[in-house]
Amino acid sequence: MNDSTARAEFPTLLVKIFGKDRPGITAGLFDTLAEFDLDVVDIEQVVTRGRLVLCALVTVPAEGTATEGELRATVHRWAESMKLQAEILSGVGDNRPRAEGRSHVTVLGHPLTSESTAAIAARIAEVGGNIDRIFRLAKYPVTAVEFAVSGVATEPLRSALAAEAAKRGVDVAVVSAGLHRRAQRLVVMDVDSTLIQDEVIELFAAHAGCEDRVAEVTAAAMRGELDFEQSLHARVTLLGGLDASVVDKVRAEVRLTPGARTLIRTLKRLGYLVGVVSGGFTQVTDDLKDRLGLDFAAANTLEVVDGKLTGRVIGEVVDRAGKARILARFAQEAGVPLSQTVAIGDGANDLDMLNAAGLGVAFNAKPVVREAAHTAVNVPFLDTVLYLLGITREEVEAADLADGS
Ligand SMILES: [Mg+2]
Repeated sequence: MNDSTARAEFPTLLVKIFGKDRPGITAGLFDTLAEFDLDVVDIEQVVTRGRLVLCALVTVPAEGTATEGELRATVHRWAESMKLQAEILSGVGDNRPRAEGRSHVTVLGHPLTSESTAAIAARIAEVGGNIDRIFRLAKYPVTAVEFAVSGVATEPLRSALAAEAAKRGVDVAVVSAGLHRRAQRLVVMDVDSTLIQDEVIELFAAHAGCEDRVAEVTAAAMRGELDFEQSLHARVTLLGGLDASVVDKVRAEVRLTPGARTLIRTLKRLGYLVGVVSGGFTQVTDDLKDRLGLDFAAANTLEVVDGKLTGRVIGEVVDRAGKARILARFAQEAGVPLSQTVAIGDGANDLDMLNAAGLGVAFNAKPVVREAAHTAVNVPFLDTVLYLLGITREEVEAADLADGS
């Protein structure tokens, strides 16, 4: 008999206390248990709306010191005096070890309904997963709960839940558990309709008085009649002759997506590197990089000659493939493997980047993008991405408070 089997077979008692929470219950229970010669194997405590469930797994009293019956009577007496309920179950050994194949499943609801919670839990069970723990990450701006799941590989779990999430109108993110989740990572965001609420080309077009013609080109590109590069050139041509001072106006008009500052501030505090990559223009992304303290930015550059936009872009065009290449370049510069990167985007031209990243998040994206990405967020708050990384609202707010921001 080896050491681990020997340990697995020792008799244990599960002491469960429940009732109204107040300070001193944990201290009181362990003071009571301290009268007996026993060891603590595990402790778990949860408080929900003021009701406490406290579980202590302990060894039985050492032989010749006290009987199990004496321990039971003592704990029940203490619980009664505290107006709490106690349940004591005899058994053997420690908790069963968690099964192989561990993932974190984050469910975001706005609101979160019982039906969707039931459906997600049922799919987890169907693919052979066991829910080991559940806890709430946030109640604002969405309800976010995390399930710690074991017993099934991350990929099949992700596909089973993605289908269910789409059907239920909730967001579900599945990431594999392990140390890598805590390792420093790089987050790279698309800009138009992701980091900001606007499409920058449309802001320029409004100043040039050619919104309609730009919209026509955009529509043609959406119909697949033009590829990204053709449509970029066709739209930028329409801006030719515009005074370069319009750049400052457009910078001032850009509206950040709700939660953008919270997301970036929190990621930076945690030591993440944060970058943006855009099919828009460096004239705007460089400004965002300065204002938001980003580490990386890449986009197309509008050519300016003699104080006027020429209607051309300079350098390599940042298109769908370009975005994925730039993500890889940022990762290399940051010294972060691609598997430790997170990419966030809304458009078809973000798909290569979303797939290349360790975690690709489709943000309020069209169905085609949503279905191809690892996970999707369909609420208009960028800081919900934090919950997918296992960061709680409470942690975000406590850090803000400590910083006075
Ligand atoms: Mg976009």
